[in-house]
Amino acid sequence: MARAPEMTALAGRLRMWLARVDWMMLFPATAALAWGLGRDSMAVVLVAVLPIFLALDSRRRGRRAALGVLDLADLSAGRPVRRGTLIAIVDDVLDECGRLGKTTAMLMIQLDEINVAGAEWGDDLGDAVMNRVTARVSSAMRGSDAVIRCGEDTMAVVLSPTRRADLDVVMNIVDRIQSAAAEPLALDGRSVRVGACIGICTATMAPHSGGAALVSAAECALRLARRSGEGAVRTFNADIRTQVETDRQLAHQIPAALESGAIRPWFQPQVDATTGALVGFEALARWHHPDLGVLSPDKFLPALGAAGRMGDLGEVMLRASLATLRDWDREGLDVPCIGVNISLEELCDPRLAERIAWHVDGFDLTPDRVAVEILETVTLREHDEVVVRNVRALRAAGFRLDLDDFGTGAASIAHIARFGVHRIKIDRSFVSGLNDCEERRRVVAAILGLARQLDIDTLAEGVESLEEQALLAEMGCAHLQGYGIARPMPLPEATAWIRHRGAARITDLRDMRARGTA
Ligand code: C2E
Ligand code: CA
Ligand code: CA
Repeated sequence: MARAPEMTALAGRLRMWLARVDWMMLFPATAALAWGLGRDSMAVVLVAVLPIFLALDSRRRGRRAALGVLDLADLSAGRPVRRGTLIAIVDDVLDECGRLGKTTAMLMIQLDEINVAGAEWGDDLGDAVMNRVTARVSSAMRGSDAVIRCGEDTMAVVLSPTRRADLDVVMNIVDRIQSAAAEPLALDGRSVRVGACIGICTATMAPHSGGAALVSAAECALRLARRSGEGAVRTFNADIRTQVETDRQLAHQIPAALESGAIRPWFQPQVDATTGALVGFEALARWHHPDLGVLSPDKFLPALGAAGRMGDLGEVMLRASLATLRDWDREGLDVPCIGVNISLEELCDPRLAERIAWHVDGFDLTPDRVAVEILETVTLREHDEVVVRNVRALRAAGFRLDLDDFGTGAASIAHIARFGVHRIKIDRSFVSGLNDCEERRRVVAAILGLARQLDIDTLAEGVESLEEQALLAEMGCAHLQGYGIARPMPLPEATAWIRHRGAARITDLRDMRARGTA
């Protein structure tokens, strides 16, 4: 449990008292008196234990002072500080809080787009962005607060001892930090805009006293904020710790789960918008966990990514998907194509295209049966040689290229044309509620028009209702995918769907059209 601020204050005052020279001079006399009264253990404490403790404490303080704690502002620029230094600084602020009967809070801030900036324009510019944003955050804080750069894209803010550091106060600071970070930056003739995820922990929220606990708790909250998407803010609480601990446990189980087939694909169909015919399936990862049930990717992809195992996931998913496609072929089921999601980590492997081609060949399939799904944001990496080479090689080898989550990134027409994708998958956020939102309809119409001009196929993701299906078909979207057609299914169910429900769904669409609703 967190140490109550009054207790911390009392402990601080006691230590200051004991360290006073006039008090120390009384130690020998008091020890002699204790000895005379037969209180041997008290005498030992006074002549040995207490002086040693005070000497060590004073050395620790000296070391901290040498870190330049008073010049905290300097730590916001230049090279990031080590975690140990950060903890020492927070320890010092907490000590100070104890002495003054005040409190503090800490915020861990990670910039969202810094990696993209770094990858696109080189590390120097990524670094410059970080320095400029850190300076801006510094100027948004009081001079006595510490803004400390502690990673490539991370900084910590530690409030100087203050009377109140509750959530209201901290959220006010968060607003200031986020607006400071979000202002566009003019760098090297470009305008750069970055968002920031923030993890918060106040001294009273922390699970234990001390700098290490406060830093870990703020890091924990930041990790959760990152999982929740760009610009998210999370505060530390016991539930967060449970989630982060679950993440940690899952991370340990990942290698066995990948090996045993506990992580395997489920399949979601994609259909032709006009005929309702099956055009393919997307393979989506699911973890059949012995204790936690079936886990969706948002529960385990962060742990997999952090463990650097996205490549292994890709390999497992690809092989299982290819084996399934081959089995469906053998059963005489007509599935033209299977879509597999490729992570950025895999796209950075110079052997990716070769490896995929080798597996496809091993299953006696041809590359045109596999749609490689890359995220729209990947096309922003037009200067990343390995990524560009891979995409070109995949295309040259005859694989189909799908641009996933289209509309969420900032890809321009030039990017799409350069990457030579075959199909864009219009993100679910534009599709859901399409019928009731004129603006969304206009955006989708514009995307469909652009695709037509570029001779690129289209697929709408997240199609949930029959009305959406009908409208998208009418607007000229070629393919549909979503719960309205079918949810992702485990293999036996997907096979049964192809055999039975697929035919029924086609009749549905034809009925609708006959009734004039499509
Ligand atoms: P995604 O590639 O955009 O996949 C589509 C997601 O939308 C899937 O979530 C799917 O279940 C969900 N979805 C489909 N239709 C609907 C609908 O009508 N309504 C709603 N609300 N959702 C719908 P899922 O399976 O949870 O996957 C989430 C993300 O995880 C995927 O998004 C993909 O980015 C990633 N992912 C999944 N499997 C893999 C994999 O094997 N490798 C990699 N690298 N990423 C994967
Ligand atoms: Ca996908
Ligand atoms: Ca998608």
